[in-house]
Amino acid sequence: MTDYYELLGVSRDASTEDIRRAYRKKARELHPDYAGPESEDAFKSVSMAYEVLSDPEKRQRYDLGGGPGMGNGSAGYGGFQGGGFGFQDIFETMFSNMGGFGGGTGAPQYGRPGQDTLVAVEVSLRDVVFGATKEILVDSAMTCTTCSGSGAAPGTTPVTCVECSGTGSVTRVQNTLLGQMRVATACPRCQGQGQTIPTPCSECHGEGRVQASRSVTVEIPAGVENGTRIRLRGDGQAGTRGAPSGDLYVEVREVPDPMFARRGNDLNTSITVPMTTAALGTRFTLQTLDGDQQVDIHPGTQPGEVITIKGLGVKRLRSNSRGDLHIHVEVEVPRKLDAESKSLLEQLAALRGEARVEPVSSRSGGFFDKFRGKR
Ligand SMILES: [Zn+2]
Ligand SMILES: [Zn+2]
Repeated sequence: MTDYYELLGVSRDASTEDIRRAYRKKARELHPDYAGPESEDAFKSVSMAYEVLSDPEKRQRYDLGGGPGMGNGSAGYGGFQGGGFGFQDIFETMFSNMGGFGGGTGAPQYGRPGQDTLVAVEVSLRDVVFGATKEILVDSAMTCTTCSGSGAAPGTTPVTCVECSGTGSVTRVQNTLLGQMRVATACPRCQGQGQTIPTPCSECHGEGRVQASRSVTVEIPAGVENGTRIRLRGDGQAGTRGAPSGDLYVEVREVPDPMFARRGNDLNTSITVPMTTAALGTRFTLQTLDGDQQVDIHPGTQPGEVITIKGLGVKRLRSNSRGDLHIHVEVEVPRKLDAESKSLLEQLAALRGEARVEPVSSRSGGFFDKFRGKR
């Protein structure tokens, strides 16, 4: 990269005043109005060096190795937000306060790029576990089909702007510290686009785009996290007059499942078994997202015990493996006993010598609270 200090002929510790003086001298030598058009590039170079070195913040960044693309370019339109300033851009930003004229080449750009759009899609746990294809309706700016985005009525075309001859900029004389200078500004007739539309398309009024609904297909990958944004390049708002479209972001919102709570790639569910079943054991059928599953409850199962079935959880992103399904067992104690049941339980208690009560630490919090609150 060209050394700005060298360009202006000053030392690296030059004061702002030294820099200003050096620039005035160079600019007088090199300004195209004085030195002829062939000195234009050299003039722009020293102008850019001055632009950077005269601003303490920009100078500091430059000293630290920042490129010329730093700072706010106050780009009004056209596409050089995001870095990559050329000499031309800085020059025009500096002298016109109009934000440049698109591209670095000086060619005018037609239309403005479309903005990004964000929409939400609701997915079920099943969609998350196995992945899904969703159709969503997006309401946004679309390229006008009547004029194919040109903004000109069918059978007509945009014409070269008569005021700027298609360059998108006009020059005017401005008083500066160097005396009078000719500066470029965006053409007011065509707003810097270099073209005007004599007969605007009646559908889009010359915008080249219209507001409309359309259906978009989005692939929900298995294992996706709630809140993930899936980017669909070019599916956002259409640009005006044929400029590129923005992107569409689809935010995944997982609807809580009535049966299963997700944590990471594992699923959790809860079952209630009678006290006697917990003691005696059984086999039962659980409806899982993968279909009916036989589950063994072993004799002597305790309240809060967890039965884990491997591989019935959520598929891991970028892997074929799946998480596990955890079945949390609640044991139900009868609230009311008829005389016969009571008698049988008393016999059982006597048989087992069970009259003692021992303190245990309390367990608190509902099952789903515990898992849903900590996702
Ligand atoms: Zn149109
Ligand atoms: Zn114009």
